[in-house]
Amino acid sequence: MTVNLLDFDAEGLLAWFAENGEKPFRARQVLRWMHRSGVADFDAMTDIAKSLRDKLKAMAVVLPPTVVSDKLSDDGTRKFLLDVGGNNAVETVFIPEDDRGTLCISTQAGCALDCAFCSTGKQGFNRNLTVAEIIGQLWRANQALGVVHGDERVISNVVMMGMGEPLANFDNTVAALRLMLDDHAYGLSRRRVTVSTSGLVPAMDRLRDECPVALAVSLHAPNDALRDQLVPINQKYPLGDLMAACRRYLEKAPRDFVTFEYTMLDGVNDSDAHARELLALVRDVPCKFNLIPFNPFPGAPFRRSSSERIRKFADRLIQAGIVTTTRKTRGDDIDAACGQLAGQVKDKTRRTGAVPLRFQELKP
Ligand code: SAH
Ligand code: SF4
Repeated sequence: MTVNLLDFDAEGLLAWFAENGEKPFRARQVLRWMHRSGVADFDAMTDIAKSLRDKLKAMAVVLPPTVVSDKLSDDGTRKFLLDVGGNNAVETVFIPEDDRGTLCISTQAGCALDCAFCSTGKQGFNRNLTVAEIIGQLWRANQALGVVHGDERVISNVVMMGMGEPLANFDNTVAALRLMLDDHAYGLSRRRVTVSTSGLVPAMDRLRDECPVALAVSLHAPNDALRDQLVPINQKYPLGDLMAACRRYLEKAPRDFVTFEYTMLDGVNDSDAHARELLALVRDVPCKFNLIPFNPFPGAPFRRSSSERIRKFADRLIQAGIVTTTRKTRGDDIDAACGQLAGQVKDKTRRTGAVPLRFQELKP
């Protein structure tokens, strides 16, 4: 059976080479060609003996997902739609800023967690992405951005904030994280790679033990009654458990704070009373807040809080000593803003109440 070498992290690749009677340093060379130089063609791996190249060609491929559309926003944000087969496509967004370049990547085709305000969730869930499909987003983005050598840092930061819940696809997410951090692959700093989770408590503990990176937690509500509705996974892992998991995570995290994401929904979670309740909730958790103005999508039952309300809400947190930023809406002219990523998902869950899919990006 043909193996896709992008499905392996360094350890997996070493094991596969060993199984096939090849030396560890050969695995490392191939790893560097694939990830540092972005080479998919074995014949272009010029310091590998022809006999080994022929063997690799017979047994394996280097196959990232195909880019089916590439859109550039007026503000420089760039959105890629990648075909992952079976009528599914996922989105990846590159966000250039003065001091860094951030790539926002997806981990699942759709998402089963069905948060009330999220376009991805409303589409339902098809499947977990493979390691090749996750790391392939970074591979393709580097290629599209013209990065030809691994020392170039066009993409300095990665956030797992695209489609899907990364910790619900734990093993593949962690393998992809390891490649991002590996000096023979992408060599990114642990502090510059962020996993965003809606709060899968047991998986947060595993991430802490197996591959601690920066952590963002999607909070969105200051009490269980409201969070149960907005983020249904809260019914399983309520706020008390989630705050305790955040504290445990910080024992091993590369940063000394958790980032709480909080989508600002007009009249739902944005009052001064909510801010006060929030301050009490996070009292014992070193944290920063990132307020996200709600990004609408077709059929969404919410409105964005006014700028004035967001500013007041932020002021409450800042006055209490919590570093609070409001996320700039980037790329909304190409539907690339937070929560707008829809890609194309063929829902296997037959979720009721799902809004119609948006097919406009995939022209036949
Ligand atoms: N599944 C993960 C990561 C992907 S979502 C998670 O939920 O954390 C990235 C962030 O965008 C999350 O904080 C999510 O709650 C937020 N988000 C989802 N839909 C949104 C919308 N319509 N407007 C603004 N933010 C949204
Ligand atoms: Fe899934 Fe995150 Fe969207 Fe919730 S906000 S449905 S966890 S992608």
